Amino acid sequence: MAGRIKDSDVTYVRDHSPIDDVVGDYVQLKSAGGGQKKGLCPFHDEKPPSFHVTPSKGYFHCFGCQVGGDVIAFIMKLEHLTFTETVERLADRIGYTLTYEAGSSNSGPSINRSRLVAANLAAAIFYQEQLQLPEAQHGRDFLTKRGLDRDAAKTFGVGYAPDQWDSLFKFLKGKGFTEEELMLAGLIKEGTKGAIDRYRNRLIWPVKDISGDVVGFGARKLASDEVDQGSKYLNSPETTIYKKNKIAMKFYGMSSEEAMNKYNGGMADYKASEGKVVWIPYKGPLDKTLKQICGGIRSACSYVGATTLRDFSKCTTFVRIK
Ligand SMILES: [Zn+2]
Repeated sequence: MAGRIKDSDVTYVRDHSPIDDVVGDYVQLKSAGGGQKKGLCPFHDEKPPSFHVTPSKGYFHCFGCQVGGDVIAFIMKLEHLTFTETVERLADRIGYTLTYEAGSSNSGPSINRSRLVAANLAAAIFYQEQLQLPEAQHGRDFLTKRGLDRDAAKTFGVGYAPDQWDSLFKFLKGKGFTEEELMLAGLIKEGTKGAIDRYRNRLIWPVKDISGDVVGFGARKLASDEVDQGSKYLNSPETTIYKKNKIAMKFYGMSSEEAMNKYNGGMADYKASEGKVVWIPYKGPLDKTLKQICGGIRSACSYVGATTLRDFSKCTTFVRIK
């Protein structure tokens, strides 16, 4: 599977990813006449929209900051992905299986993105199911104490990693994932006697990227410090699909500082941004933040633990509102 994506596949993916549709995942587009659409530019801060999309020609152009290109260029720039990663992302979006040219000099990862995303999604579902089992009672009690009811836990996809060494590993192997794939997805790690689950006896929150794919997890310790000397919060390691600094940069291309200034109000800004996809940095520990969010927002769908994002030292949680 290693190597370069076939040119014909790149063309196919580009032709079958309507630019207004793809851009529409990030920017609210309105008709601008003459077959064009326009919206607020995701690459610079602006009030009247100067970001134009021409679906018939398959390209976008911003008259404010002069950025432009095709659908691949748009995703590459917005998501900070490589060309290959972008084509893989777009292929996933339309359910198309890419073919790679064997023996090419491009030494990309030998396992493609869709396998890692699939492994993370399967893990998220596994963790959510575990939360319903009798042995997860202490996890559910913890959530209740923090004001998160069953519905809220479901909204955020909260799950439970069992108090075992390899329950997830076994489950995912049974689903056909290889040890190499699970290692690359950050779901297992090397133990003294072979691979083991990364998380044990923890509450689990999926981390989603802006397209909604599960790319990693945050995990909150449930055992006492005497029993578990690990950190209170753990996050997935960097993987090819979970690049923390890139996730942090999803403020429509704004710098971290601009984003902090713009959304520093946390919840106060939520109403203004309802209906748009935006990351809100919010101060406070994750579980407390979720409690406040649950008071008013049911559509928030993911967060990124900012303890791993040095740029955002002042806040600990990002919430994606769609
Ligand atoms: Zn612009």
